[in-house]
This record gives sequence, C-alpha cells and structure tokens, in this order.
Amino acid sequence: MVELVTIPAELPAGLAVVEIREHGVAVGDADYRVCEVCRLGVVEQVRVDPPFRRRGLATQVIIKLLADWPGCRWSTSPINAPGALCFWKSLDWPEPETLGSPVECAHMRHADERTS
Ligand SMILES: [Zn+2]
Repeated sequence: MVELVTIPAELPAGLAVVEIREHGVAVGDADYRVCEVCRLGVVEQVRVDPPFRRRGLATQVIIKLLADWPGCRWSTSPINAPGALCFWKSLDWPEPETLGSPVECAHMRHADERTS
C-alpha cells in the first residue's frame, strides 16, 4: 500500500516534502515550496528509489500537489537529468512553459535566507 505523506514547511514559503511510503517505508520523496501569499508553487525535485520506478508514484505526487494547492501557479527547478524532461512532459502539467523555469518570489528567497 502506498501512502503520500506531506511534511510541511517550517517557514512560510519554505521547503516542504511529500514522502512516498510503501508499507510505512520511504521509497521516494518530492521537495517543493509554496507561497500562499503569491499563490506560487515550485517543485524542486522528485526522487523515487529505482526498484519503485515505472509505477506512476512520481505522477501521483504531482497530482497530489496540484490538488492540495488549487489556484497555485506551478513551476519546477531547472531540469538537467536525462529522461527527467520526458517524465515531466508525460504529466498533465498545467503550464508546460514553466517546466525547468522556476518562478520564485521574495518570500521563498527570504525563507531560504533564514534557513541557510
Ligand atoms: Zn510570495
């Protein structure tokens, strides 16, 4: 049984995580941040352990994020890994032009400054 567990950000617009757990064991995660003031969301990375890939788990995480934050404008961190762009394009991503072009706001940068 797969569970998606959100670990909320400590600061507004700070880094949050969705953990993918199978039978209670983490097999992947997604880092993201959302600014509720600006209604912006950025997915920083999605990681799934190799034995658990090709089962649509990463897709489930993205669907969950989009559903959890209705009305948010989403973008992603720069996409460098081979195959990663194919993954993103296979999703029902609302704004293809923001793939790999993160739209960040001052609140997100501020959250980073306070945590680093
Ligand atoms: Zn903001």
